Amino acid sequence: MIVILHPDTDKNSEAYHALLAHLGRLPGIQHRVHEEVGAQQTLTEIYLIGDTASIDASQIQSFAAVERVVRVSHQYRILGRHKDDNRPSHFVYNGVTFGQDYFHMVAGLCAVDTREHVELMMRALKENGQVCTRMGAYKPRTNPYSFQGHGKSCLPYVFELGGKYGMKVIAMEVTHEDHIDEIHEALEQAGSPTGVMLQIGTRNAQNFELLKSVGRQKTYPVLLKRGFGITLEESLNAAEYLASAGNRNVIFCLRGMKTNLGDPHRNVVDFAHVPVVKRLTRMPVCVDPSHSVGARSASPDGLLDIMHASVQGVIAGANMVLVDFHPEPTKALVDGPQALLVEELPWFLEDVRIAREAYEKRLNLIQRFRLAGTLREVGSG
Ligand code: PEP
Ligand code: MN
Repeated sequence: MIVILHPDTDKNSEAYHALLAHLGRLPGIQHRVHEEVGAQQTLTEIYLIGDTASIDASQIQSFAAVERVVRVSHQYRILGRHKDDNRPSHFVYNGVTFGQDYFHMVAGLCAVDTREHVELMMRALKENGQVCTRMGAYKPRTNPYSFQGHGKSCLPYVFELGGKYGMKVIAMEVTHEDHIDEIHEALEQAGSPTGVMLQIGTRNAQNFELLKSVGRQKTYPVLLKRGFGITLEESLNAAEYLASAGNRNVIFCLRGMKTNLGDPHRNVVDFAHVPVVKRLTRMPVCVDPSHSVGARSASPDGLLDIMHASVQGVIAGANMVLVDFHPEPTKALVDGPQALLVEELPWFLEDVRIAREAYEKRLNLIQRFRLAGTLREVGSG
């Protein structure tokens, strides 16, 4: 059960104390206060944990501090989409709004290799009106002898160039909690010219201690990759770990599932799950066609498999595409074979725009049929 308080409820007010005292007296029920400090207002939600079935919601509702009470109908308490739950499904970070009704492209280097490549990439993004990018500094590699990423040594120039080229958000994987501090320090030293979205990779989707550490900080939003060998439910619980530790600004990224049945693709593309995640949770959903497909193969129509997969995700309502590009893929230190070329960026963006428009047309279409009253209401199970 979630008790949503009126915006800007004063924690020292009598109304607040009266409510907390009541909640404290509920037998066998624990409560956890979650505060969301926004630019305009502070929102407070109180999560009641335990056997809440017997709690009288209308009694809680009658407290002056309470705006409304939401009964949590299934799992994913914080990020889930519950009955009569009209809490927002978006958040703003560094001036960019991420949400289930928004769309962003996050193109960039899988791994930072040289300053020159970072600059070529960011310049192309700026020329094409982009404000988000991906830049991997800490790389989780299967082989211990493979390049592990430049780590904190590349952060000063990545952030400086991010500022120079107007990047508002840089998606960057962290594999250890220390990396959060390293990123934070480097950003501050650079004068915070850009923002960072902390990425948790597929291999760490069940690294619960890392999830808790990343979830405890509220400065940076989180891009969580689906675990490649676990169920969707397990991956959504990973997202809930982040939220239950305190950070609910989470974007969930589909990136393909590991199985040889996807051959010749690197993973089997799972973008049919875009609407499923949007239905079960309030998280914006990202797709990563690069790590799903894993190669620059083209079909006879001339389009790359990575482009086909991207638009499949977008036409199904994805809110973000995370995609690998490189100015010189043969020189890339990680995942060169799946990188799109920087000169392909305008083509890729236009191709994806067509798919987004098609998705929006599909939304208009269902509206039209609904208004005409010719559709039966279908369940959302
Ligand atoms: C990545 O995006 O760089 C990455 C390593 O992806 P994943 O965790 O999905 O393999
Ligand atoms: Mn990669």
